[in-house]
Amino acid sequence: MFASPEQIEALRALQEAERGMVAVRAAFEGSASRREHAEALERLRQVEDKMRGLMAARQRISSAIAAAEADDAALARQQEEAQRAIDGAGTDYRSIETNTKKLNDLARKRTEAEAGLERAYEEMQRAEGLARRLADAHAACRQREQEAGQAFARERATFGGRIDELDAQREQASALLSDELRAAYREAAQRSGGVGLAELREEACGACRRAIQDGHLIALRAQAPVGTCPHCGRLLVI
Ligand SMILES: [Zn+2]
Repeated sequence: MFASPEQIEALRALQEAERGMVAVRAAFEGSASRREHAEALERLRQVEDKMRGLMAARQRISSAIAAAEADDAALARQQEEAQRAIDGAGTDYRSIETNTKKLNDLARKRTEAEAGLERAYEEMQRAEGLARRLADAHAACRQREQEAGQAFARERATFGGRIDELDAQREQASALLSDELRAAYREAAQRSGGVGLAELREEACGACRRAIQDGHLIALRAQAPVGTCPHCGRLLVI
């Protein structure tokens, strides 16, 4: 295939730019700032999940406290009624005995209810302490996520700038090629995972490294300055 020395240089520049773009994209994919930002975001989400769980738990405890307080108040009213009945019973000893039993029973129930309330108050206090610690952790995680996000954005801009430079180099090189060369390179690059050009070195393809022998070599030399590797199909600079 015909190619002027400038076009051969342009093919090499095109290949180099495309390899460079693959390398820059891979470096960006594996960049530390990208990973750090993803990790910071993940930790933030974890803390937020815990906060949501805790909020639900506090609502449950709060409802339980309200119900237990209402039960306790009802027991207190029943105690007052029983006491009034005793006070007004005069010599009705049967009524006094019944209401005294009732009072004892209510006193026992109130002791139990108050112990339960005490436990619920303690549980609420622990939940509030945990909520304060989680709020602190959330603020720290959010700051870290924002800093990591800014570092990641700066790195993304740097990578983007390098991609733009390489893209310009690619466009410039591509413009120097004939339609035939450009199409042949593009086809070989697509078939070979992005590397479409190789050099003939010591009678072997510089990309697939297989030796090109006898008849193939004669046919290849006849295609000079640019031929096709009979093994991998890449363009070969002869
Ligand atoms: Zn080859």
